[in-house]
Amino acid sequence: MTLVLFIDMDYFYAACEEARHPEVKGKPVVVGTAPPNDKLRGVVQTCNYEARKLGIHSAMPTSQAFKLDKNLVYFGDDYKYYGEMSEKVMALLKAYGHRTEVVSIDEAALDLGEMGYDGARGQAEAIKKEIMAKFGLPCTIGISTGKIYAKMMCDESKPNGLGIIEEKDLKAFLKGKDVIRILGVGKKTADRLNAMGIDTIGKLAKADPNVLIDNFGIFGKELYQLANGIDTSRVEDKYTILSIGRERTLQKETTDMKVVESMIKELAKEAIEELNRQHLWFKGISVKAKYTDFTDKIKNKQFNNYTDSLDLLTTEGVKLIRPLITDRAVRKVGIRVSSLAKREGQKKLS
Ligand SMILES: [Mg+2]
Repeated sequence: MTLVLFIDMDYFYAACEEARHPEVKGKPVVVGTAPPNDKLRGVVQTCNYEARKLGIHSAMPTSQAFKLDKNLVYFGDDYKYYGEMSEKVMALLKAYGHRTEVVSIDEAALDLGEMGYDGARGQAEAIKKEIMAKFGLPCTIGISTGKIYAKMMCDESKPNGLGIIEEKDLKAFLKGKDVIRILGVGKKTADRLNAMGIDTIGKLAKADPNVLIDNFGIFGKELYQLANGIDTSRVEDKYTILSIGRERTLQKETTDMKVVESMIKELAKEAIEELNRQHLWFKGISVKAKYTDFTDKIKNKQFNNYTDSLDLLTTEGVKLIRPLITDRAVRKVGIRVSSLAKREGQKKLS
């Protein structure tokens, strides 16, 4: 029986700031969306556990956070740095030699193979220790027979934890949990299940699989299996840099699409240069407009095939950002390519 290890970095952006400013450790730390000199206009992006204890949470207006504690330590977000830290952590994980799937900037799944629970625990302890020693970053690890269960266990073991759920305990572990905890079950599916009288995973496990298939198609079969402790999702060998992005503050706030367009062209060129340096293709793009009130809007698009075309990136980038440029003044724009793949051995249509 193979085991999956799921790792999630704790309060990642704030932890990155603690790592490079050790003097703030133990104090409540907030990473917000606005630069420090104008911090009260933004919202909280991430905060550490000291800040959470005060009732501060993500998406809370920074001004409100400061009302809860006027001595908060504040940092404006620095995605370039967080991205670099993420890449270092992922490279460290990959070096353990297991099939590794980068799930997000601060989450990954490792297929540990048949090493047994004791072996898995030892591996997890070694990983936690090494990440702390090398980067000063805390993380939580969950281990189970499937990726989805390992993630659930990880969520429940936060912060700085290590949780293992053995196969024999899996059904009891899942039984009382809300169906929405299953990865891939959103609000809509949960509502439909609830309407069928199924609110917990335990009830889902006892449902008639044919009724589930009638209602949800092939996903209904998966739901039934997952509820019964069968997770067929594989850890995919997706070890790629998550994305390459460039963003820049405009010289002057603007509502002029022409100004934005020329900036997007410039940034797209830089992103493609970096992509070429790293011998990568992309399949996804996103653009961002950050307004003068520090809120932002993002638009994404996914292509069917990998490409490295600057023309395509520029044209699509401009198209995507156009609806975001209205009478609201923009102060910063960005473009990002994602779903990256190494050029070797991949099919591409340009
Ligand atoms: Mg995290």
